[in-house]
Amino acid sequence: MSEATSRTRVRRIPDRGHYDAATIHSVLDAALLCHVGFTVDEQPYVIPTLFARDGEHVVFHGSAASRMLRHAATSVPVCLEVAIVDAIVLARSVFNHSMNYRSVLVLGAAEIVTDDEEKLRALELISEHVLPGRWADVRPPSAKELKATSVLRLSLKEASAKIRTGPPLDEDEDYALPIWAGVLPVAATRGQAVPDPRMTQEFPGIPLPAYLKPR
Ligand SMILES: Cc1cc2nc3c(=O)[nH]c(=O)nc-3n(C[C@H](O)[C@H](O)[C@H](O)COP(=O)(O)OP(=O)(O)OC[C@H]3O[C@@H](n4cnc5c(N)ncnc54)[C@H](O)[C@@H]3O)c2cc1C
Repeated sequence: MSEATSRTRVRRIPDRGHYDAATIHSVLDAALLCHVGFTVDEQPYVIPTLFARDGEHVVFHGSAASRMLRHAATSVPVCLEVAIVDAIVLARSVFNHSMNYRSVLVLGAAEIVTDDEEKLRALELISEHVLPGRWADVRPPSAKELKATSVLRLSLKEASAKIRTGPPLDEDEDYALPIWAGVLPVAATRGQAVPDPRMTQEFPGIPLPAYLKPR
């Protein structure tokens, strides 16, 4: 990865396309979840799911019974996508409203991870991607739980990022209009952790883990 392929070249506003590993990795690492698209009997499905980056691959997991996992494991073409909205971009015309965003698309065929050690490592990566520090604190998966979980790996060989930053881009004549224009930053933030009432009943003294404290 570092160059566009005929399938990953961003066509609209190509300046916003990036194909280098550092950019693609940074967007993937900043996204909480991804969507996996695949086709079954000519019907496309797009399923949201957790994931993590593992070097030059992404790994994602789910119930071994899930259609998404069962189907994607048969080496069919998939498209994995993440998108992070950084701001709503308010232009002077409706037409030129936009968003500042970072997004990544990955094309390829996923492979199933069969080795238990590899599977565990992938699950730890996914857990650490969502909430760093949690894995070391909790009961690891049992052999039965591991068996009930499928893990897939998808190469980042064919991937693209698209990034928009900055103020609105209006038509020249519209800059004369007395309309508020600019950007409204938006972000997904962490709230205050809410303890499970059964935990406080049974173990009232458990302190809030450091990784849950407000940052
Ligand atoms: C939050 C958000 C909101 C958006 N809103 C709109 C909207 O309302 N209308 C609109 O037309 N577009 C919107 N886009 C942009 C949209 O995702 C496409 O980039 C756009 O439709 C242009 O696609 P295209 O025809 O150039 O590329 P296509 O021919 O559809 O795609 C060619 C290749 O370019 C790459 N590519 C295209 N888009 C992206 C992307 N976003 N991220 C990474 N790689 C990409 C892929 O590898 C793809 O295979 C939005 C994007 C984001 C992240």
